[in-house]
Amino acid sequence: MMARRRRQIFEGKAKVLFEGPEPGTIVQYFKDDASAFNSKKKGIITGKGVLNNRISEYLMTCLGEIGIPTHFVRRLNMREQLVREVEIIPIQVVVRNVVAGSLVKRFGMTEGSPLPRCVVEYYYKSDELDDPMVTEEHITAFGWASPQDMDEIMSLALRINDFLSGLFLGVGIRLVDFKLEFGRLWEGDQMRIMLADEISPDSCRLWDKKTNDKMDKDRFRGDMGKVEEAYQEVARRLGILPESGPRDMQGPEVMQ
Ligand code: UDP
Repeated sequence: MMARRRRQIFEGKAKVLFEGPEPGTIVQYFKDDASAFNSKKKGIITGKGVLNNRISEYLMTCLGEIGIPTHFVRRLNMREQLVREVEIIPIQVVVRNVVAGSLVKRFGMTEGSPLPRCVVEYYYKSDELDDPMVTEEHITAFGWASPQDMDEIMSLALRINDFLSGLFLGVGIRLVDFKLEFGRLWEGDQMRIMLADEISPDSCRLWDKKTNDKMDKDRFRGDMGKVEEAYQEVARRLGILPESGPRDMQGPEVMQ
């Protein structure tokens, strides 16, 4: 059950934000709700919130260890994590290594083609406008971020891509593309940009390296079934399921 003592700040599609226990902190509660196509498709993926909480905790912690500033503080329980309160920059930063999703739709490219270099795109976060793609020109002209902010964001996004691509490849997963969000943290008159939101199979495309099987929210978008199992397999491969899933507990059958 969601803690009732806490004051709710915001409810999004997959998460609820509550006031944290001390000033400057927020509790992120991960729901099982799934949405796609700007909420035209909605559903529940049982257990997703628990898995995304753990997966995002793990990835943010690893990124923190290589010096990427993140909002993550600590996981509180199965569905909640404590994060630092930041001023969210209203831009989705998408990094792509392989052609998929809207690249196929917009340019008629073949899904699965590797890109010769990674492609970074920006989208303005607005449900009413359907998250329009924007350039750095729009972002700086409209005052959503400064040119210095954008340099920092681009450099962080590329470091994150290199690190996560290697991390996932090490467990047999191709990081096809993913979405990041950044926020500003003020310490006196000093401002730091940090990674915020979540990194999970909701916000990444993850394909099995050998079979190209999709292990992410595309299974929900395309009604492919086995959505929870796919998220669970991502967590299992990352080594963050304490018991490696009930089905894996049985050893090979002994033949008499
Ligand atoms: N993405 C996301 N939230 C969004 C839009 C995209 O997390 O609101 C992620 C998506 O899961 C994929 C990447 O960003 O990993 C690129 O998505 P794409 O532009 O292909 O958009 P789609 O057509 O999938 O919405």
